[in-house]
Amino acid sequence: MARDYYGILGVDRDASDNEIKKAYRRLARKYHPDVNDSEEAAEKFSEISIAQEVLLDPDKRRIVDAGGDPMAQGGGTPGGGFSGGFGDIFDAFFGGGGTQGPRSRVQPGSDALLRIRISLEDAFSGVTKDVTIDTAIICDVCTGTGSKSNGKPVTCSVCNGSGHIQQIQRSFLGNVMTTTTCRTCEGTGEVIPDPCEKCGGDGRIPARRDLKVKIPAGINDGMRIRMAGQGEVGHGGGPAGDLYVEVTVDRHPVFIREGDDLHFNVEVPMVDAALGVDFDVEALDGETITVTVPEGTQPGAAIRVEDKGMPRLRSEGQGDLYAHVEVGVPTNLSDKQRELLEKLREHGGETTGVRREDDHGEGLFGRIRNRFRR
Ligand SMILES: [Zn+2]
Ligand SMILES: [Zn+2]
Repeated sequence: MARDYYGILGVDRDASDNEIKKAYRRLARKYHPDVNDSEEAAEKFSEISIAQEVLLDPDKRRIVDAGGDPMAQGGGTPGGGFSGGFGDIFDAFFGGGGTQGPRSRVQPGSDALLRIRISLEDAFSGVTKDVTIDTAIICDVCTGTGSKSNGKPVTCSVCNGSGHIQQIQRSFLGNVMTTTTCRTCEGTGEVIPDPCEKCGGDGRIPARRDLKVKIPAGINDGMRIRMAGQGEVGHGGGPAGDLYVEVTVDRHPVFIREGDDLHFNVEVPMVDAALGVDFDVEALDGETITVTVPEGTQPGAAIRVEDKGMPRLRSEGQGDLYAHVEVGVPTNLSDKQRELLEKLREHGGETTGVRREDDHGEGLFGRIRNRFRR
């Protein structure tokens, strides 16, 4: 809303800087808080101070001269909606805004967000966590009414219940009507006659609460659990928002999760890989799982154990467990070991030879690529 800064200081539109300063000093002697301590004077003094500041600043004065208000929110600069001539100015002054009714005193509350970390073991089995949350809750003294005597809100006498105040201001275009939100009732059109002392009429108070959050088995990193009605109570004791608990699952030293499957690495000595072997792995719930490495297992092979992965969230069954085989080749052989291995070489019939790249499906480049992908 463009204000008439010339009119506030009582100077002509072509007033010089000196005339503006003079006019300001004349009015300041009348309204300065040191000489006049009324509330009206304080407002008037701030008005003339702003007017002087605007008119002594060439850039701001140019905006005023173009019909804008450099102190208004959202600009009002010549490029910002006032460039189209008087029609636009009139739209800005008289069109839209300020005619809607009061807003409701009781507002719905905001949602709250809480983050917690859990281990992969907890994600596997499901867990109930104790959390502490700071939000607004219903005031226990007035039970949310905001009133000391449980009295009903009454119509605001300042704005007569409309929630806003209209003022006529003189301007170079004539009288201009401005609409502002009523500060007494904060735009709600009603006030609590005897506000509750604990909450000041708001109907809610800040509080720290302890809650139990049930985290289902199979939850994945980054998922949010919604707890309806556990968020913040609204202004005027309005219905509470929801609480969202965002779960971060910590990395595990052994298992890597991929969807509902679990993967881990196992080092198998060369001889075990050749002959086959069973080994045990402790699952996330402590269960001992026996994995069979079949005879002739190659380096990089993945052994699948069905239904031993993560539980499927809100569904039946589990993903799979994969053991990724690394083959350990012995070093620092004893004489006996060397003797046995040399015997094996004599009987083995295997020879070292260069392999053609097209002999095997995956190929060298494929294996190099996969190694970097892993
Ligand atoms: Zn209260
Ligand atoms: Zn009011």
